[in-house]
Amino acid sequence: MGKKSPMRISIIGTGYVGTVSAVCFAELGHEVICVDVDRSKIDRINAGIAPIYEEGLSGLLKKHAGKRLSATSDYDFAVMNSDVSFICVGTPSDPDGNIDLGIVKAASASLGDSLRAKKGYHVIVVKSTVVPETTEKVVLPIIEKRSGKRAGDFGIVMNPEFLREGKAVYDFMHPDKIVVGSLDKRSGDIVASLYKGLDCKVTGTNPRTAEMIKYANNSFLATKISFANEVGNICKELDIDTYEVMSAIGKDFRIGKYFLNAGAGFGGSCFPKDVKALIGKAKEIGYEPVLLKSVITVNERQPGRMVQLLKSRLGSLKGRKIAVLGLAFKNDTDDIRESRSIPVIKELLDNGADVSAYDPMANGNMKKLFGNVRYHSSAEDALSGADACLVMTEWDEFKSLDREFNVMTNRLIIDGRHMLMPRKDVEYVGLCW
Ligand code: NAD
Repeated sequence: MGKKSPMRISIIGTGYVGTVSAVCFAELGHEVICVDVDRSKIDRINAGIAPIYEEGLSGLLKKHAGKRLSATSDYDFAVMNSDVSFICVGTPSDPDGNIDLGIVKAASASLGDSLRAKKGYHVIVVKSTVVPETTEKVVLPIIEKRSGKRAGDFGIVMNPEFLREGKAVYDFMHPDKIVVGSLDKRSGDIVASLYKGLDCKVTGTNPRTAEMIKYANNSFLATKISFANEVGNICKELDIDTYEVMSAIGKDFRIGKYFLNAGAGFGGSCFPKDVKALIGKAKEIGYEPVLLKSVITVNERQPGRMVQLLKSRLGSLKGRKIAVLGLAFKNDTDDIRESRSIPVIKELLDNGADVSAYDPMANGNMKKLFGNVRYHSSAEDALSGADACLVMTEWDEFKSLDREFNVMTNRLIIDGRHMLMPRKDVEYVGLCW
């Protein structure tokens, strides 16, 4: 750990990554200005109310809002009153699955405009996940054009974020790697110095390598999951418990035990879109990424397999009441982006099922997507009168469900997350085991 020297930081985009980075940088002693185009988020942050749920976020925001941390929609103010600006805006998929850099371009243009009038040295940091070459070939030219300055007059750095949603604050404060990709030493050293106080060595590299490290990291984890699911699907047909298999192979230090849980597949705002974006980038340069494409194919099949299992037991789903437990893409978050429960609910509704759902945090978000599902405030309420139940998210509270299943009309459970203890009076069906 080095000696801390507080700096002034602006954070562009106050979503998951931006808000968490903002409060954590404030906790490390820096002065932070958040910028967003969404006025309601700015008001909430200034009032010390977290715009999203993340463990530990609310406490840190309350501690620093109005002191070391503020929010505004004014780029000029933020750039003038900071030394480093982090671009933390979204990088969604376009309809073909390729990366959509529209928001990154807009944020870069606004930063470039604000930089024009700034006298001192300023570093622009891309923290959003962007495909290799974006920082140098997209962000940098926009900022140079809009600011009238050249790289070197200002710094340009790529500093990917590896936090896990649900544990984002903890991960920011306890990173296993900090990657700083810069074109020159001056800007790289400034960004590395912001992390002083954290017990982690900085990996210094160039921007395109930093960009690729992020994609390789996520694609590898997604590959492990799809591998576990493919083996699990084969195990299911052969009456083998894939969890025994994965637990044994996970003991091999070259494999490791994490991300081998077979089930309904991966969702969230990162894995699906990042693997697809890398596929898009590979194709753009004339390379056919066969393995990465299969990772997505396996993942997209898993939710359908749950509905197939359901139909194999119930026959037609028309008018049948199906309880879906878990809507968030994973536990400890209200985020439903690419949640595996989305394709499952869609298919259930397409088949005429009457869907009742419960999630400890994500009911509200899912309601915006599916108005024709009945949302409940407890698992028991969702299960009442149900012909079957699908478990979609690994919430801790689901592990202890027991007598709650008594209220079902037909006690059939299809577990997409290998969570529940089989019970004699319940037909318990595993997805891959
Ligand atoms: P998000 O969609 O939650 O937040 C983006 C924010 O940017 C929103 O608040 C939006 O209002 C704001 N915004 C949009 N246009 C803007 C503009 N022109 N100027 C200022 N603000 C603007 O996104 P996120 O989940 O925080 O992800 C941000 C980036 O970080 C993405 O590239 C993502 O892939 C990457 N990432 C995300 C995670 C994660 O767990 N969510 C983890 C690592 C990396």
